[in-house]
Amino acid sequence: MKILVQFSGGKDSQACLIKAVNDYGNEKVTALFCDTGWEHEDTYTHIHNVCNQLNVELITIKSSKYKDFVDMSIKKGRFPSTVARFCTSELKVIPMIDYILSQDDSFIIIQGIRAKESKARAGYDVECSYFKEYFNDGVKGLYHKKAVLEWCKTHDASVLRPIFHWSAQEVIDYILANAQRPNPLYERGFSRVGCFPCVMCRKREVQLISKDEWARKRLLKAERKMREETELGSSFFPPTYIPKRFCANGEYPTVQEVFKYVNRNDAQLDMFEPEGGYSCMSLYHGLCE
Ligand code: SF4
Repeated sequence: MKILVQFSGGKDSQACLIKAVNDYGNEKVTALFCDTGWEHEDTYTHIHNVCNQLNVELITIKSSKYKDFVDMSIKKGRFPSTVARFCTSELKVIPMIDYILSQDDSFIIIQGIRAKESKARAGYDVECSYFKEYFNDGVKGLYHKKAVLEWCKTHDASVLRPIFHWSAQEVIDYILANAQRPNPLYERGFSRVGCFPCVMCRKREVQLISKDEWARKRLLKAERKMREETELGSSFFPPTYIPKRFCANGEYPTVQEVFKYVNRNDAQLDMFEPEGGYSCMSLYHGLCE
């Protein structure tokens, strides 16, 4: 039986990893990181530092179909969006299921989900089976259903969410009490880490990204690459992200136009969260912070 902690580099999964080491011992715990190739460079460093400090094994999994987030977007001819969020399944869910199926072992999978993150997350179970949807005939289109059901005949994958009832402050306090620091991106004002930026990024975060040289350049480069390699090009931000009068083509904004807009004194930045919050909403919760 392997104890896997899904570690994204965010504070909640970091607290889970520390807690797992405290509860079970470092030699029994493995950190599992789904690398989309679209994380911030500081997040990669943070993940390695945390695992080294705790002396736990780190397994990094990636899509076997796509090199990274940009490669996937180019091959699909568009960036993902809030309504076409194929990034979660292609870059996180499928690699995770492939990894589990490749192992002749049972798992306890620990996820840093908290009820207070969103109304939707408050409805999750504190404990459940990782593949519970596969036993629900009402759920269609599941990845590798036959192979998963076969694997489940001889193995088990249980999910535990040990910080489900914790507040964000309790998470930070726990990390600090265990002589660690949270991801440095939080200290720079970002409220979420993981894909950088996520396709559901708020304008306040885009404002910060526009001032982060490394992330700004990478996003501009991704957009340029998409324009060069696909017939129609694709906007990273949705058509309604900023008012149309700020888009030169009158239809959708370029990254540069969004950067310019979010730094205007009169910019309308996000006042409310979308329903369900900003986290990825996949059946396999905990993959995106
Ligand atoms: S964090 Fe955002 S961009 Fe990354 S996989 Fe999840 S929804 Fe997609």
